[in-house]
Amino acid sequence: MAKNIILLGPPGAGKGTQAKRLEDDRGMVQLSTGDMLREARSSGSEMGRRVAEIMDKGQLVTDEIVIGLIAEKIEAGSEGGFIFDGFPRTLKQADALGALLASKGTTLDAVIEMRVDDAVLVKRITGRYTCGQCGAVYHDETRPTKVAGTCDACGSHDLRRRADDTEEALTTRLMEYYKKTSPLIGYYYAKGDLYPVDALAEMDSVARAIAAVLDGETA
Ligand code: ADP
Ligand code: ZN
Repeated sequence: MAKNIILLGPPGAGKGTQAKRLEDDRGMVQLSTGDMLREARSSGSEMGRRVAEIMDKGQLVTDEIVIGLIAEKIEAGSEGGFIFDGFPRTLKQADALGALLASKGTTLDAVIEMRVDDAVLVKRITGRYTCGQCGAVYHDETRPTKVAGTCDACGSHDLRRRADDTEEALTTRLMEYYKKTSPLIGYYYAKGDLYPVDALAEMDSVARAIAAVLDGETA
């Protein structure tokens, strides 16, 4: 049966990497508000210009904007279920998500809490780059492309670094996470939806831990 899950965790926890795997392995649909906002800004729209400045500083975009983006996607539906990546990030967004899913006659099945060590985040994020064509994620030290400047997955040369993957913006992103997003851990724990996973483990074992939750192998 199709399941809807949230990947919850600080920047650099590996939400995007795991979301991509779930898409490939299970036909789920990744809804990354970060990706949607980056798309909006590259389209050069008025909204895009407003969010670009906020994002580059590492601050959160307004709830109204991201809820609007997510609402459209939920309305379109997904047979394989949704992976919410980087959303919700505030209690208001969490309430809105519950209401949006309910209006489609569906619910949230699990919230995966991706636990990491803050010191590791800085290292992970400051070496990060992605493929602009297929979204594959790489890292200077831990996961470089096989051929420098060429995406392993699709052969594209369009490798990019994010404007907010600097140490300064990352400090703000972490503060935003602890002030506004981490309360969601308690919120979903109280609802009985929370499943902590050790996100410091290597990629395959994180994927296995998430699969175990999805397949109902953990309590
Ligand atoms: P990361 O999880 O690595 O910080 P994302 O790609 O999820 O990266 O988000 C990048 C930026 O986009 C955030 O720092 C924020 O400015 C904006 N953003 C993404 N999702 C949301 C959201 N749900 N609410 C508010 N702002 C968001
Ligand atoms: Zn690629």
